[in-house]
Amino acid sequence: MKNKIVVLGAGISGLATAFQLQQKGFEVTVVERNKRPGGSMISERKEGFLIDYGPNSGLEMTPVIRKLVDEAGITEQMIYANEEGDKRYILRNGQLHPLPMSPPQFLKTKLFSTSAKLRLLAEPFVGRSNDGYYQSIAEFVRRRLGSEFLDYAINPFVAGVYAGDPEKLSVKSAFPKLYALEENYGGLIKGMFKGAKERKKRAEQSKQNAKMFSFKDGMQTFPEALTEKLNDVRLECKIKSVKKEGDSFITIYEQGGEEKQLRSDAVISALPAYVAAEVLENIDSELAGHLKEIYYPPVQVLFLGFEKSAVGQALDGFGYLIPQKEEQSYLGAIWSSVIFVNRAPEDKAAFTIFVGGARSPELFEIPRDELFQKVLTEFKRTMEITDDPVFIAEKFWDKAIPQYNLGYVEHENYFNKFEGENPGLFLSGNYRGGISVGDCVKNSEIVANKVSEYLNTNKNKNSKE
Ligand SMILES: Cc1cc2nc3c(=O)[nH]c(=O)nc-3n(C[C@H](O)[C@H](O)[C@H](O)COP(=O)(O)OP(=O)(O)OC[C@H]3O[C@@H](n4cnc5c(N)ncnc54)[C@H](O)[C@@H]3O)c2cc1C
Repeated sequence: MKNKIVVLGAGISGLATAFQLQQKGFEVTVVERNKRPGGSMISERKEGFLIDYGPNSGLEMTPVIRKLVDEAGITEQMIYANEEGDKRYILRNGQLHPLPMSPPQFLKTKLFSTSAKLRLLAEPFVGRSNDGYYQSIAEFVRRRLGSEFLDYAINPFVAGVYAGDPEKLSVKSAFPKLYALEENYGGLIKGMFKGAKERKKRAEQSKQNAKMFSFKDGMQTFPEALTEKLNDVRLECKIKSVKKEGDSFITIYEQGGEEKQLRSDAVISALPAYVAAEVLENIDSELAGHLKEIYYPPVQVLFLGFEKSAVGQALDGFGYLIPQKEEQSYLGAIWSSVIFVNRAPEDKAAFTIFVGGARSPELFEIPRDELFQKVLTEFKRTMEITDDPVFIAEKFWDKAIPQYNLGYVEHENYFNKFEGENPGLFLSGNYRGGISVGDCVKNSEIVANKVSEYLNTNKNKNSKE
């Protein structure tokens, strides 16, 4: 008899894992609360604009992405970023400065002072830290690269990736590759050269070199296509809890006011940490405690369309990020219609602006209209825009992106312990192994292999008994 697997949550983590397990011959059921699959991946076409309320793109950092795209039958839908997408800006003293991408650009840039540039050259001579384990990314960068580099490169970068606060994010957990460069090679510059060779062997791309992708109709195409290929995805089903019964698991969910149950040999939770906490509380309350401690800050996404003729700033890049020191009310803006085709009508320009995050959650105490006007004024000033937007769409994410803050290592250790003590139950989702779409897909392969190995070993064991 086929082994049965239940996957909790139809975000990209759950769907990509479910899809690979179905391909391995298992009977997989995905249970999802929402009407539509995709979790954070929400795309919408309106008045000629294409809005991505969650991720605007992914990085093709693992061959698994292309494999899944091909097998889900959406190869023709996949698009890559225009060349302009490589150029990124940072705001300093009210001006946009291109982020230097080569040593000559670095020497010329006005983004960093001469002393900051010289400080960077000293990096190979900075020793290892004794308490790297409990270091924030801010402490790590201050020590290795100096405070100006922290303020004008890492601080905005962390806002762009995690909507995070660099003083709180753990370098070991949130930037494991950076941490490993120091651990394994004694420095970032030394390690970068050696790391490139090792990735080549594993056929992986560094995030820096990986191609940026999306789909003609936005990121939601990906989870939708995976859902189409899956045999059993139950939407509008709210998971309440999971129980253990001998060697099996019972997933209890609510559909249209009715309580239902699913029995399976394995369960993969691909739910947000704070939901997994409730669902798994009766199995392990200590686990629930760890899951509840993972902070998801609020983020407001504003999608604005303007007449192209009203935009003074040259539209030749991915967008820009804002260092905290610049004291603006938003984290940065993606120039959506520059990066990918078909994001706005021909004569319009579309931008996606991010507000709040772990750096400034208190902003949402201001009335929303007031905050919007503040952001709009600041954005128009930087982009030299002379008119009001002709199109506005927005989404408020109450709990946007999990923060791998200091202390995360203890959570991760407990997750591993929990899985060891509860064979057949697997914890997945963007609060483990990276938050990017690329990381979620990469991890889906790891989880699918772990589950299949567990079930195959277990099946053989049971059939011998
Ligand atoms: C605003 C924003 C911008 C982002 N930008 C980028 C970007 O540009 N590039 C990038 O790579 N990444 C980006 N990310 C991160 C990335 O999109 C996410 O980390 C990733 O999509 C998470 O996938 P997931 O499946 O792990 O979780 P989720 O997408 O959160 O999926 C979890 C699923 O569980 C379901 N669920 C919750 N509770 C229940 C319940 N009780 N019963 C049943 N189902 C339930 C949810 O409805 C959801 O479908 C962004 C995220 C956000 C929020």
